Order: sequence, then C-alpha cells, then structure tokens
Amino acid sequence: MLEKVEACLACGSRRFLPAFSSPAQMHPSREDFLFSRCEDCGLLFLSTRPRPEILGKYYTEHYLPYQGDQAWGRYAAMARLGQRRLDRARVKAAERFARLTPKTRVLDVGCGKPTFLKALQEKHGCECWGVDFSVEGWEGGKGFEGIHLVEGDPREASLEGPFGLITMWHYLEHDYRPAETLSRLKACAGPGAILMVEAPNLNAWSRRFFGRYWGGFHTPRHTAIYTPQTLSILLERSGWQVVKSGLPGTLGPYILWWLSWREGRGTNWTASMERHFPEFVAGNVLLSPILALHRLSMDTFLAIAKAPA
Ligand SMILES: [Zn+2]
Repeated sequence: MLEKVEACLACGSRRFLPAFSSPAQMHPSREDFLFSRCEDCGLLFLSTRPRPEILGKYYTEHYLPYQGDQAWGRYAAMARLGQRRLDRARVKAAERFARLTPKTRVLDVGCGKPTFLKALQEKHGCECWGVDFSVEGWEGGKGFEGIHLVEGDPREASLEGPFGLITMWHYLEHDYRPAETLSRLKACAGPGAILMVEAPNLNAWSRRFFGRYWGGFHTPRHTAIYTPQTLSILLERSGWQVVKSGLPGTLGPYILWWLSWREGRGTNWTASMERHFPEFVAGNVLLSPILALHRLSMDTFLAIAKAPA
C-alpha cells in the first residue's frame, strides 16, 4: 500500500538518490520509510510513501495534534495558554507583512482548530476562511462563528477568493502535491496577496542532534522536509514571488526538541501526556540557553511570498 514518488516535489526533477530511512513516528508500527534527496535542487522528500487512501492509518488516536489540549489532562488549561501565545505570535507576523482590515479576506490552509483565524478576526475583523481535510478541529463550529470553515482538499475545495492573505502553519510539509496546491492558491489570491508558509527546517540544529528520530521528519506524514532554499524553488515554480525565505518560525524550537527526544525513547503516544508535563516544563527551562538561539538554529522557519500584481 505504498506509492513511489516519480519526481522531486519542489523542482520536478527525476534525478534523486536514496538518502536514509526513518521509522514511523507517533505510531506503533515503527516501520521504516525511505527519504531521497533531489540531485538538482537538494530537496529531501519521502520517496516511498503511504498511498493517500491508507493515510488515515497514520492520523489516528496515536496522533498527538488530533488529541488537542485534552492530551495534557489536568494541565490542559496551560496547553491552551501556550496555543494562545502561539496564535498571537502568528497574528503579529501577519501584521508585519500583510494589510489587515475588515475588508481583508484571509485563508488559513490546514487550519485544524481555527484558533489563529479567531485571533485574527477578533483583532482586525478580517473575513476569515479555513480549509482542512478533517472537521475534527471545529466539529459543530462552536466558538468559531463567522469563520467560513470548509472541509476538503485545498486543491479542490470551494473557496471564495480573492484572498489578500493566505497562511500555512505547518501544512505544506504534509501535502502530496505541493506545487499543484500552491498554483491553485495563487489562482485564488488577489493581485499582490501575501502567502506565509511555516515549516520545519532540514538545516535545524535539532535535526543534527536527533538524526532519524528528529520530530521534523514526522515519518511518514511529512512528504518533504524543506529548507528556505528548496521552499523558495517550489514557491517560484508555482507562480509566487519570494519576498523573504529564511525567517525564524513562530513555533518555538522546544516542541521539536521534546518530540524528538520522546520519539527516540519509544513513547506511547496513545497514553495521556499528563505525566510528562512536569518533564516538559523542566526541559524547557534547562534547554533555554540553546533555545534562545532559535534565530540561528531556525528549527522551524517562515517564508513570505507575494502573488504577482
Ligand atoms: Zn528538486
């Protein structure tokens, strides 16, 4: 039930070589998947991957992001606080690059639980749209009134542009056909619209430290591991003009360090994370000198692109 990838996801080249294998993460099978590297642009991508129809097997109760803050048991309120801080950082990043008014139509691709859109709507009154493969993040829509939430594939979903801002917070690295998605989104974007893409960075210090257990691989859910350079190649090929490609991501480095460390120790991700919370907090304090260097280590990075005027 695996499929072979025929061409590089970023540049379309058919010249690529096996790089290494990585075990399935947040999943009990521990089966190995092969990553290959493009000889032309250097992109690292999953060259043998689960066929889309069996992908659901890897997004189950083992999948921490789907468990939401409840995974943290009695510390759920603190997890929610962390999410609010992250949403604020994302709103601030959006303010820096896009004009945000009540007339601005914003689309968040892979919105999950649309707390970022909610924060944006509250602060700037933007017309907010979210699209995701799963409705799990907003089931019933309670708390997200006034936000247009669409279930489906962003390549085919019915989206009413033109959008002035399109965001992807850790979505693109899950996409099976990222060039097609980006081209479709460009068709939904207004002239001069801003696109913000955040993803884990293959050049991250944490990747060098944890090797094949690095959380940024998220095997086999991440189809490609970008760098600011390879993402720029993909964006330009899909009709976007890159404005800035190597900004530090809004998702701080610690979550990647912790996930990688837990993965290496064979954590049971179906169990409650409650008992790991004190360790989670202590690690954050102990590692803070390294984490303060996020601007250099760039465990996650943010790229800004513009639709042609
Ligand atoms: Zn390539």
